[in-house]
Amino acid sequence: MHYFFHHLCKVVKMTDLKTSKEKENLVRRDQKHLWHPLTQHKTAAPPLAIVKAKGALIWDEDGKEYIDGIASWYTAMYGHGNEAIAAKVQQQIQELDFVMFSGFTHKPAIELSEKLMAILPDNQAKIFFNDNGSTAVEAAIKMALQYHHNKNDKRDTLIAFDEGFHGDTFGAMSASGLSSYNGPFEDFLLKVKRVPTPQKENLKEVMAQLRTILKENACAAFVFEPLVQGAAGMKFHDAEGLDGLIALCRENGVLCIADEIMTGFGKTGKNFASDYLENKPDIICLSKALTAGMFPMSITSCTQAIFDAFLSDEVAKGFFHAHTYSAHPLGCAAALAGLELLQSEEIKKRRSYIQNQHQGFVARLKDHPKVKDARCMGVILALEVDVRMERYGTSRDQLYRFFMERGVNLRPLGNTIYTLPPYVITNDQLQKIYDVIMDLLDSL
Ligand SMILES: *Cc1c(COP(=O)(O)O)cnc(C)c1O
Repeated sequence: MHYFFHHLCKVVKMTDLKTSKEKENLVRRDQKHLWHPLTQHKTAAPPLAIVKAKGALIWDEDGKEYIDGIASWYTAMYGHGNEAIAAKVQQQIQELDFVMFSGFTHKPAIELSEKLMAILPDNQAKIFFNDNGSTAVEAAIKMALQYHHNKNDKRDTLIAFDEGFHGDTFGAMSASGLSSYNGPFEDFLLKVKRVPTPQKENLKEVMAQLRTILKENACAAFVFEPLVQGAAGMKFHDAEGLDGLIALCRENGVLCIADEIMTGFGKTGKNFASDYLENKPDIICLSKALTAGMFPMSITSCTQAIFDAFLSDEVAKGFFHAHTYSAHPLGCAAALAGLELLQSEEIKKRRSYIQNQHQGFVARLKDHPKVKDARCMGVILALEVDVRMERYGTSRDQLYRFFMERGVNLRPLGNTIYTLPPYVITNDQLQKIYDVIMDLLDSL
């Protein structure tokens, strides 16, 4: 670690800064009134002011260029400032910028529902709009709870994986198993029972645990990130095992909610991680890449059977849940343009190029003495650095700074380094991500 530190300091000094006269000093102004997410402001370093983004690149106010190695939280998969998408959004602004979605409908929402249905698993029939990932999960959980309520079947417990992440609103937070941030709210959460993710080795035990949970509780829904747990550190699990858990839940009348907010739209190699499963989820949550990073929007899709459970002469059996910006036409326009790109030959080719390169890089990483584990699926690549991190937080920040100094935005989660690059990343840019990861490993 000593050498690592020394190396870092040298690079900091070499950074080319503009004179303060040229700079707007955005960071100083930021510090006056802004409260950032996921930040302990007493100890956190000030944020970097970003003034421009294009393709896989972002630029800070000093003109320094960074490769966006995680596509800005897996959203900007077709590149920042994508002109095809921007043109569609522009056109939509001129025709219909926004109208409420209660009592009204519009073509962008209708078209998006048709296009999504064509690629979602066959059992999906209806689409409900929300405005971010957490609220997609929140709506899914409420849908599941009310589904049973409407059938006069009292069920009050959720099932979720250890270390899952589903968002920061109360229902979503309850399902999340990464408890480090939930402390102050623990007394206010929904009832949740947890199982470990299924791996080849533990499948029998996990199935047995789930059986016990199902027997001892009135379970309403099973919420999971299919195949890849993003916030847990891009941890993978077994599709066959997950299929078994879904089947067991289904036998017990438990609705299965796949949170595909991170995995959706091609990141795992198929359109959706659920495409790897035999047993399809009853409810699917989508957001992040849905609008290609242009607009906050999310979708909760469900089966016809769920929708039908809300049909009644009693008004109160309907789903009384809404967000002001439901089905925002600009978000729908961005999503439609994004879907067109997802299915284009060009993007398909880029995705398989990245996937092949990742596989080659993982093979190299596996031989490295400082790598504990390396893995990839689709365009997701992750590795664990084999370094004892006694002060976990500080070491992680050192890794982050190491990458940023070298012009690559990678945000390690503990000692997990991962990249999930935009599909449009160039060959050279992708190579540079691999190079800085190798440089880091060699400096440890
Ligand atoms: C990001 C994410 C969420 C939360 O989405 P927000 O838009 O941040 O509320 C939920 N689930 C998964 C799997 C995610 O990756």
